[in-house]
Amino acid sequence: MNLILIGPPGSGKGTQSDYLVETFGAVHLSTGDMLRKHVKDGTAIGKKAKSFMDSGALVPDDLIIEMMTERLNEIKAEKKSWLLDGYPRSLKQANALKALAASGNAVDAVIYLDVSDNEVVRRLSGRRTCPVCKRTYHIEFMKPAVEGKCDADGAALIIRDDDKESTIRNRLKTYHSQTAEVVSFYRKEGVLKAIPGESAPSDVTQKVASALGKSVKPKKK
Ligand code: AMP
Repeated sequence: MNLILIGPPGSGKGTQSDYLVETFGAVHLSTGDMLRKHVKDGTAIGKKAKSFMDSGALVPDDLIIEMMTERLNEIKAEKKSWLLDGYPRSLKQANALKALAASGNAVDAVIYLDVSDNEVVRRLSGRRTCPVCKRTYHIEFMKPAVEGKCDADGAALIIRDDDKESTIRNRLKTYHSQTAEVVSFYRKEGVLKAIPGESAPSDVTQKVASALGKSVKPKKK
């Protein structure tokens, strides 16, 4: 199955993509990770993409479409399926992907993890980081032994700029403006599976599985 995973930051895409990769043997492609590697390796793509990425803007469609088309064709040649994360992010990209359907790269399903903005803020703004060893905690889900102190070195935990509510709300604004048209594109195509994503991760996995016609054994407690 060729799949696309869409969801805001903090929606649990990481956990669900682990399940999908394991179940469908798909190759996980995150465009953000691919681009960051290009930048790190100093490739031509990386050099062109860097300034856009630094400002939080989208990398131009032509560049990203070329990068993804090449990679998707490689995966198809290896007779594997793919799971896309962060692509497509514009109608032009969605149409470019649709154009590959005839050559064996059809999208089978789009999993849309539906998590409200308030829940995203609750999840992400609770993160605390140790400025010394960079270990992360969460005020609700992964508390340190002593409130406000790192378990490893006792340093006072901080809230990173990324995790401040105002920054999270800005990231969400960008996310909604980029994904709205892509979500409605796939809704019209009839492949969108909107999954309520606010319950426990294992429960969300059950819902994802059943939307794809699979079942998962609940984990033993
Ligand atoms: P991400 O880690 O998915 O948030 O991606 C990091 C950055 O990479 C984004 O802010 C964009 O600059 C760029 N990027 C990732 N995916 C795409 C895409 N599909 N189209 C355009 N730019 C992208």
